Parts: sequence; structure tokens; C-alpha cells
Amino acid sequence: MGQVYVVGIGPGAYEEMTVRAGKILSKCDVIVGYTVYVDLVRNHFPGKEFLTTPMRREEERCELAFEEARKGKRVALICSGDAGIYGMAGLMYEVGRNYKDISIEVVPGVTAALGGAALLGAPMVHDCCFISLSDLLTPWEKIEKRLIAAAQSDFVICLYNPSSKKRQDYLRRACDLLLKYKKEETVCGLVKNIARDGEISEILTLKELGETKADMFTTVFVGNQETLVIQGKMVTPRGYDRERKEI
Ligand code: SAH
Repeated sequence: MGQVYVVGIGPGAYEEMTVRAGKILSKCDVIVGYTVYVDLVRNHFPGKEFLTTPMRREEERCELAFEEARKGKRVALICSGDAGIYGMAGLMYEVGRNYKDISIEVVPGVTAALGGAALLGAPMVHDCCFISLSDLLTPWEKIEKRLIAAAQSDFVICLYNPSSKKRQDYLRRACDLLLKYKKEETVCGLVKNIARDGEISEILTLKELGETKADMFTTVFVGNQETLVIQGKMVTPRGYDRERKEI
């Protein structure tokens, strides 16, 4: 039986890839992925066959991986971060219904939320949720519902896909909505190009966040009611303070 690995390569730098992901890429014959991600790993895996497909051609990319595996090759389909977080792990299983002779193994990676959280400090130490602002595959009304529910339940919110060329004002729209339920001074964080050239991280208020430009390599964090700034870092207390008071 043939096999395809679906590998999360982490946010960018080779050092942020897990040892297991690196080992699997080393033993594969073919690495399939979106051009930008293949370029991130290419130099570290010389001698591999690299096959790329452009953005938005995800189904084709999956089929390509299965077809290569059918030829008897060891194949890795790579995704940035983790393949199970707004990545291709799900689509691989869906497309895999037509390739029952090929088994799929998902290899986890460091998702942008984790890479970004470490840069900002400790923003996600308490209950948190991930919401993607991309309405390419999800209706905007549903995204709004989830933003409201997350704000009402006081989750720390991590926003993926906060903006793109066609959706420049989505972050502002999301912040306007959150501001109906959360304070203007709620501590927020923004990270760009995590573990890549041009990496930046910034801490700002929810009001300021709404006035900020994000791009497609930005991940955004919105704190809960307790999130605070400690020595320039975004920190969400776990609640030890409360525990100490009760003792
Ligand atoms: N599977 C990926 C997410 C893909 S969705 C993961 O687990 O990280 C694409 C979104 O992820 C981007 O719009 C951005 O919000 C976030 N992202 C991915 N890589 C990033 C990086 N290096 N720096 C900042 N944000 C990143």
C-alpha cells in the first residue's frame, strides 16, 4: 500500500520544524506543496523532487501527491504551520476517498498561533479559540457569529487570515464587532512573518488594532478581560493569583 505524509513544516524557519517532520521529509522522494512553502524547505532537503502548484489549486495538489504515491514513491505534502489548522489535512482525507490504496499519515507542526504566542509572550495561557477571517470557504455571517460568541464567552481570540488584497478591511470589521462586547483598551497582539524574514511583533489595544493594516502573513491575538502587559509582553494570567488569595 502506498503512503502519503501530510507534514506541517512550522511557521517558517527550519529550526521551528519538528524533528519528526524533518526526518520524514528526509526520507521522502517527493515533496509537494504551494510554491512559497516549498521554497522555505528546498535548501534543507537537497536531492528531492519538488512539485509545486499555485495558491487556490489545493485539490490538484492533493491529487498530485496521491498520483506520485501510486507510482511507488514516498511522498510528503507540506503545509505551513500545522496541516490540521486551516491546512490541507482535511482535504487530503476527502480527496483520499478516490485513492483507497494510499494511506495518509498526518505529521503535526508548530501552527502560527503557537509561534506568534511565543513571540508576544504568553497570550494564550487560558482558554482560547482560533477564528479565520477568510470568507473564501466560510460565509461572513458565520464568521461574525463566531466572533460574537468568542467575545461573549471571553475567550482569548487568535485570528488567522486577518486580511488579503481583496479583503483589506476585514480586520477593522472584526474589531468593530468585538468592540461591541469588549473594552477599547483590551490588550491585543499582532505578529507578521513569524520565523521568516521581516518578522515583527507588536502589542496594541483593541481600538488601535482596528486601525492597523494586516496582511496575509499576519496573525492577530485579542486578549481576554484579564490579559495584561508585563515588561512589554502580552500575558494572559492562568489564575494563580486567584488560587493564592483563596488559600
Ligand atoms: N496551516 C497554517 C495556517 C494557514 S492559514 C498554520 O498552522 O499556521 C494562513 C494564515 O496563517 C495567515 O493568513 C496567517 O494568519 C497565518 N500564518 C501562517 N504562517 C504565518 C507566519 N509565518 N507568520 C504570521 N502568520 C502566519
